[in-house]
Amino acid sequence: MIRTGVDGLAGRPIPLVDLAAQHAAVAQDVADGWAQVLARTAFIDGPQVAAFETEYAAFIGTGYCVGVGNGTDAIEIALRGLGVGEGDEAILPANTFVATAEAVRRAGATPVLVDCADDGTYLMDSAATAAAVTPRTRAIIPVHLYGQAAAVEQLMPLARRIGGWVVEDAAQSQGARRHGTGAGALGHAAATSFYPGKNLGAYGDAGAVLTASAELATRLRTIRNHGSPRKYEHDVLGVNSRLDSLQAVVLSAKLRRLAAWNAARLAAARRYDTLLGEVDEIVLPRTLDGNEHVWHLYVVRVPDRDRVLKELQAAGIGAAIHYPVPVHRTAAFAGLGYPDGTFPVAEQAAAEIISLPLFAEITAQQQERVALVLKSALR
Ligand SMILES: *Cc1c(COP(=O)(O)O)cnc(C)c1O
Repeated sequence: MIRTGVDGLAGRPIPLVDLAAQHAAVAQDVADGWAQVLARTAFIDGPQVAAFETEYAAFIGTGYCVGVGNGTDAIEIALRGLGVGEGDEAILPANTFVATAEAVRRAGATPVLVDCADDGTYLMDSAATAAAVTPRTRAIIPVHLYGQAAAVEQLMPLARRIGGWVVEDAAQSQGARRHGTGAGALGHAAATSFYPGKNLGAYGDAGAVLTASAELATRLRTIRNHGSPRKYEHDVLGVNSRLDSLQAVVLSAKLRRLAAWNAARLAAARRYDTLLGEVDEIVLPRTLDGNEHVWHLYVVRVPDRDRVLKELQAAGIGAAIHYPVPVHRTAAFAGLGYPDGTFPVAEQAAAEIISLPLFAEITAQQQERVALVLKSALR
């Protein structure tokens, strides 16, 4: 029992995401599907993988889904499939999970960072992206951060003009739409992650690349499997990064429920809007016009963030920060040479943001307690 001295502030811990509740909904489907995989022992490249790939491409509304080992590999393989590598630059936001930059580096290209827009969405700034283009730019990687799509329609003409590609980082946006089109079907290719905590999560690492191009999909399938289009033929330098049959079973079972889960997340986000809307110190998240947001994360800004976060955590509330350190301030990417102050919007956001617990099964009472503790911490 957590004691804070104020009635209503104490209670059972509230996690950031509740994977146990999610598993309960699919437990039987997963057990049945896994029994089939175990009976056949086709652990790699079983029929479950092809089935999930077809289902997921249809769900997003694009032609092809190529399952891979994780989301970071998905970005790298997408870039390699498009021929982006050594000597090329790829533009991405400074405020993203480090994997976006990592994948660019691993493909052999140079990450060029840009700030996020100062409009409450935290999405990559389109004007800054246009300004960052050089003769070496070959890829633009908008990140559909927190569950809503970036304005990819502003980036496509830019990519066309330079003969480059838009590769969406759709790891946080499964089921989101922009002007009716699925996030993941807005650019030339998209990468997604099925890390357990994503809106569609596997029981381990998994990811996928999406594209409308049959030709690119074929190249991606070759790259993910040792550069091998046919057994014993290795046409290009590939990797070993495959989605396995056990994970595909989990993903198919969860995909059938994803639209309902995303709707529940939206309802929970609206409830937070109401609960927190009248508090002057709290800056609520903003949805870009034309977007259907899937609320991977509900991110607010508060003054004195570190103290507020500690108080939330001390009260058993699994709040977190996504992400406390922008890419250019990580030790791994200090070599890119961006001094502090280069991306003021992203840097200020990193100092003020808090992600509140949000998952499909969260109850009104849980959200009320989160709001109560947050308001009391701000008092
Ligand atoms: C999770 C995530 C990734 C990486 O996915 P992994 O499956 O963990 O490799 C990449 N980009 C963003 C924005 C993510 O949230």
